[in-house]
Amino acid sequence: MYQFVIALLYITIVGLFVVCAISLSKWGGMLHTYLFFYCVSNLIYNCAYILMLHAENQETYVTALKIGYLGRAWVALSMTMFIAKLSGRHFPSLVKAVAGILNVVVYYFILNLEKTHLYYKTMEFVMDGDFPTLPHSGGPLYLFYTLINLFYSYACIYMIVKAFIKEKNKTAKKRDLMIVFAMIAMVTSYLIYYFKLIPLARKFDTMIFGYAICTAFMLIAIIKFKMLDTATAAKNYVVDELSEGIIAVDVEDRLNYINKPALKLFPELADQEKEPDTQRVLATLNEAINSGEPVRLDGRIYTPRVNPLTEEGLRIGTLYSLSDDSDHYRYMDELREQKKIADEANRSKSQFLANMSHEIRTPINAVLGFNEMITRECAKMEEGGEAISPAVKDAFGNIGTYSGSIEGAGNNLLSIINDILDISKIEAGKMELTDGRYSLGSLLKDITGMISFRASEKNLAFVADVDEKLPDELFGDMVRIRQVIINILTNAVKYTEKGTVWLTVNSGGKADLTEGGTLPLTIVVKDTGIGIRPEDMDKLFGSFERFELKRNSTIEGTGLGLAISHQLVSMMGGKIEVVSEYGEGSTFTIVIPQKIISCEPVGKLGEHEKAGNAGKKRHKASFAAPDAVILVVDDTHLNLKVATALLKDTGLKIDTAESGKRALELADTNKYDVILMDQRMPNMDGTETLRHIRATENALNVKTPVICMTADAIIGSRERYIAEGFDDYLSKPIKVAELEETLIKYLPADKVTMVESADGT
Ligand code: ADP
Repeated sequence: MYQFVIALLYITIVGLFVVCAISLSKWGGMLHTYLFFYCVSNLIYNCAYILMLHAENQETYVTALKIGYLGRAWVALSMTMFIAKLSGRHFPSLVKAVAGILNVVVYYFILNLEKTHLYYKTMEFVMDGDFPTLPHSGGPLYLFYTLINLFYSYACIYMIVKAFIKEKNKTAKKRDLMIVFAMIAMVTSYLIYYFKLIPLARKFDTMIFGYAICTAFMLIAIIKFKMLDTATAAKNYVVDELSEGIIAVDVEDRLNYINKPALKLFPELADQEKEPDTQRVLATLNEAINSGEPVRLDGRIYTPRVNPLTEEGLRIGTLYSLSDDSDHYRYMDELREQKKIADEANRSKSQFLANMSHEIRTPINAVLGFNEMITRECAKMEEGGEAISPAVKDAFGNIGTYSGSIEGAGNNLLSIINDILDISKIEAGKMELTDGRYSLGSLLKDITGMISFRASEKNLAFVADVDEKLPDELFGDMVRIRQVIINILTNAVKYTEKGTVWLTVNSGGKADLTEGGTLPLTIVVKDTGIGIRPEDMDKLFGSFERFELKRNSTIEGTGLGLAISHQLVSMMGGKIEVVSEYGEGSTFTIVIPQKIISCEPVGKLGEHEKAGNAGKKRHKASFAAPDAVILVVDDTHLNLKVATALLKDTGLKIDTAESGKRALELADTNKYDVILMDQRMPNMDGTETLRHIRATENALNVKTPVICMTADAIIGSRERYIAEGFDDYLSKPIKVAELEETLIKYLPADKVTMVESADGT
């Protein structure tokens, strides 16, 4: 028996060496540290035990015993730490420190075994057969230490059995089972030794057997089930080195793993036993993930993500990760801030443009309005017959010419304001197209009439070649198409000194034109002008781009026309192309898809009506309505005078009001046929005045048509004012033809007599 025990001790020592070597070679964390510590403690005790078994007297036995306890004192504690780590538990450092100090204290008393009697009350060296033994009676410290060791054994069994039950991974489960066996062997040997359950326990520390079996099971667990896998250790190492925080929880949301970066963010999770803390952290992360918001911690911003963890199709837990995206978010915040500033600036710009447009239109209204009156008066004087001397007639003729120039310059100023408004609408993404039916023939007649006049002023030839077979009735935004074609043609005339401007309109070679189909309306404008330098071609359609400013210094322009045209054509689904030879001339080709309403051909342009009356000069009122009464409301005195003067020839009775309040007073006592209402007025604006007029049932002017007459010409003004309840909208400066047409539409028919105008229309 003695020899068997010695042999067993040697085998255990070899086994422990192997485990030591493995844990050393795979060193990668606290798990290895605890295992190594356990093996070394065990080795010391086993080696010392061999010495004890060779002792011949009490002195050598006790000396070997003291050496042995150097290891034995730590066996249970290191094993407990190892199992705790393995089953994912964490003991606070304070508990570990107290357990360590207790061990040191106990060992101190073992070193002084003979003097204190606290550990062994009595002891006596006896040779029991071949076995040297030291029968003893335990002191209080011995009892205490035995209880602590029993507690450690219980804790180990509890932790590993629980981990075994919880474990879903089959391999891990088998590994845990090995450790369970190892623990059972160790605890059984403890119990056998302390309670001397077998006779051998009286002369020999049966725990040596326990340790041997325990070591064997550990070896199997380590080698067969890769308990201390290098790859796992390496993964752990890498995961700790990541900047990303990682938290793994099991299916019941219990913390299984947390890497160092995550632990820094949530130090409360250091104690893995504290489930409420884990739940709180998980709730925060889940809330952020669900709302798509980042998590802000310690002044940094993290993006949380969640992924299910599965093993062979079985859900075994959840992995939360937190990536530090502070720089990204900071950049985004900066961008947002910059965008806010830019939006704000853009809003101010739009507001400024709206105000500027309003402010400029108001005086132009007076200039053009009174200029119209001068033109009329001059015409009357020129027609004045014998009573007026030729010299006076001549003078009025000259004044008429000057007033024509004022009108030209005024209209030019207006078109610049319109261009600025258009480009600001386009830049704000608020430009809208208004599609409707229109006659292509009328449109082209209108345009060619205007351009041939301008070309002839510069002694340029203008040749229009319109395919007569083109369908006449189309569907699209006629106003914008007109704007684009006029712009390109005006440029051709502007930038050509001598030669010809050609306008060609056709279907771009498309033959099958059917009703409801699409016409690729193709407009080609060619000139023999100055041409565009190749290096300027790329910038041609940019806002405010003008080239060769020195050469073109006498040519008026804002550099907006092409930018607006390009944007409008794109909005209509078309394209503009330019080919130019510097010094020779340019060719602009515009293709705009338009829906065909009717295939009736355009025919010859001369047979078409003009699309609008814009260019028509009126010297006489188109109607007379001496029995009708209208009210004109405007806070600017000059505007009231303009409106009254322009309508003088119609014989209308005109009341004027310089405020909304005054307008209400007048509307209370007088029945009007039409009210022309300015919009922007102090105290009570046009809309509010309108609301008051319409508010009282059976009031005199509840049903009177109210027409908004305003210099506010920005984005969607017409639609907005009509939506607010106005019957119609007229933009300032007032065009007399438009004003008369609108009045004819709204005045009671029986009060209006149409007058034949000078040109017979
Ligand atoms: P502008 O109001 O200056 O005419 P546009 O946007 O219409 O603005 O045109 C931009 C610039 O392109 C012009 O200033 C001119 O330099 C050049 N350009 C446009 N059309 C022609 C053309 N037919 N021939 C030569 N240059 C042209």
